[in-house]
Amino acid sequence: MENTNNENLKCLRCGEEMVTAELLMYLASQPVVQRTRKGVLSAPVQSATQCYVCRNCGYIELRAKEPHKLKFRTE
Ligand SMILES: [Zn+2]
Repeated sequence: MENTNNENLKCLRCGEEMVTAELLMYLASQPVVQRTRKGVLSAPVQSATQCYVCRNCGYIELRAKEPHKLKFRTE
């Protein structure tokens, strides 16, 4: 399984090493990704996100911190 807390992510645009950053939106906290399924008994699944930014070209990437939590029990 891929390590999503990789501190050595390379920028997809220029190849520079990316650094973690906070994505400030002045609303609540860091963004959360969520999956929902139609059906009464299906609870949504969520993961917090981690923001990475390239200090060379400015490219920003958001990754799920805990992607394994985005699977439903039956998947
Ligand atoms: Zn870059």
